[in-house]
Amino acid sequence: MSRIDLHLHTTHSDGSFSPAEVVRLAHKATVTALAITDHDIVSGLPEAIETGAELGIEIIPGVEISSRLGNSELHILGYCLDWQDPELIQRLASLRESRHSRNPQIVERLQALGLDLTYEEVRTLAGTDAVGRPHIARILMNKGYVSSAKDAFDQYLAEGRPAYVERELPHPADAIAWIKSAGGVAVLAHPTWAKVAGEGLNELLRALKADGLGGIEVHYSTHTKRQTREYLDFAKRLDLLITGGSDFHGVTKPDIEVGTGRGGLKVSEKLLEPLKQAALGRRHT
Ligand SMILES: [Zn+2]
Ligand SMILES: [Zn+2]
Repeated sequence: MSRIDLHLHTTHSDGSFSPAEVVRLAHKATVTALAITDHDIVSGLPEAIETGAELGIEIIPGVEISSRLGNSELHILGYCLDWQDPELIQRLASLRESRHSRNPQIVERLQALGLDLTYEEVRTLAGTDAVGRPHIARILMNKGYVSSAKDAFDQYLAEGRPAYVERELPHPADAIAWIKSAGGVAVLAHPTWAKVAGEGLNELLRALKADGLGGIEVHYSTHTKRQTREYLDFAKRLDLLITGGSDFHGVTKPDIEVGTGRGGLKVSEKLLEPLKQAALGRRHT
């Protein structure tokens, strides 16, 4: 049974290998089909498709869109989409713009108001969480500029206040809608990031499915056997497609290889056809 890999990053986002290099690595790893899923960008696809054609590897057009729900950053993978869709390209461009600039901009505004803080302090405080205004509020509290988080929002951070900057990460429903309107299938990446399991995850997946989610990334480099089983169970129960991939980034995640993840990953080519069929069905409706 052939191996595929539906989650790979290149130098077009935060990966360290070019699309052509990633496709060559996949070829060496005997991967027969792969999806390039760069963060909020599809510009790596032409090169990957060209190299794939040379080496006889099928390239599935993909993307990974960052979204936020509460204090969880959820990544929505898009597969089999029309990556040349001008609306999609435009939406991804504005998403990149706001993602890279919003929180640092808030900090800059606070600095301009005479407050002593740095974006680095905010990032450090946030740790593995997606940086958000609550972290900035906490820094302002710690430094004695405000008496509470509410005070920080009321004085500086809320809409209409002097350090407010428009736009956050989109809601997952928006990311799903963008993927679908470009003819693709939307899949929840690395579900552990939702920070919920059991009934909480069940509820989340049901809600996302109502928003148009088509699948769940069951097979993933860092999933334990128990997690894989749990996600497989949810996929069956909620009639979601099953996908899998390494989330290869190159040197920034040195323990993860194309196709095999940490060694134990094996994503079956059998998962590919249902994904393609779902995308085709979507385009005809
Ligand atoms: Zn991700
Ligand atoms: Zn990723």
